[in-house]
Amino acid sequence: MWGGIEAGGTKFVCAVGTGPDDLLEEVRFPTTTPAETIARAVAFFRRHHQAKPLTGVGIGSFGPLDPDPNSPTFGTITTTPKPGWAHTDLAGAVRRALGVRVRFDTDVNAAALGERRWGAAQGLDTFVYLTVGTGIGGGGMANGGLLHGLIHPEMGHIMIPHDWERDPFPGCCPYHGDCWEGLASGSALEARWGKPGDHLPVDHPAWPLEAEYLALGLVNIICVLSPQRVILGGGVMAQTALLPLVRRRVQALLDDYLQAPAIQRQIETYIVPPALGDRAGVLGAIALAQQ
Ligand code: ZN
Repeated sequence: MWGGIEAGGTKFVCAVGTGPDDLLEEVRFPTTTPAETIARAVAFFRRHHQAKPLTGVGIGSFGPLDPDPNSPTFGTITTTPKPGWAHTDLAGAVRRALGVRVRFDTDVNAAALGERRWGAAQGLDTFVYLTVGTGIGGGGMANGGLLHGLIHPEMGHIMIPHDWERDPFPGCCPYHGDCWEGLASGSALEARWGKPGDHLPVDHPAWPLEAEYLALGLVNIICVLSPQRVILGGGVMAQTALLPLVRRRVQALLDDYLQAPAIQRQIETYIVPPALGDRAGVLGAIALAQQ
């Protein structure tokens, strides 16, 4: 039996099981203070651990964070602007409370792993998983290994062209202003148009602009990593008219430069939603635990 935590900036999802067809229990609760939130997660796992011992727990967390097992600060959320959470030793707190092995990575790398094991990236060894929600995050695999490197990818903070005439909104990233997340996250949508994305009608000018920004970022990622597939999830993508717009703009911006039938003719199976839906994160955390 394995435990998984999808540690998000607004909610925690915890589950116990071995995979999508074998989840014993799943709980969701809001992310409040570190002490209160971690105590709730630990209490959930402890109850299961006493009934049937857990072999390990995987945590896919918001960040930035330290995913390097050889680092003295492994398992901590590092410089997050989320109040109270900077320098929180999340993995250490869970490991000490339960006495089990804990694996720790970004929420998007965990979700990518879940999609590869059970979802839309099965059989692939180079792909990206992006979530467009409150922020924008990206993870994935290159040549069969989860993307790490110096720290971990921060795809949400790439710089993309910003046409100030078409869009005078300055962007909302506290660090960079008009980086990708600053222009195209759910927070940016809400700040620019005065209401959240799920309150904007399908014919609102917000959507072609959103598709343009998402496509600009995706083209950069496609050109850098050459992913075999792009999985695009998160709350903003709940507007189902958006994904077809993004696909068309990616094709138009690449302009047949990449001679890849997957992009030129089969883009509906190239840029796809997560097959595991909103359980990609917590299932990915279980897959991480099993690694
Ligand atoms: Zn930024």
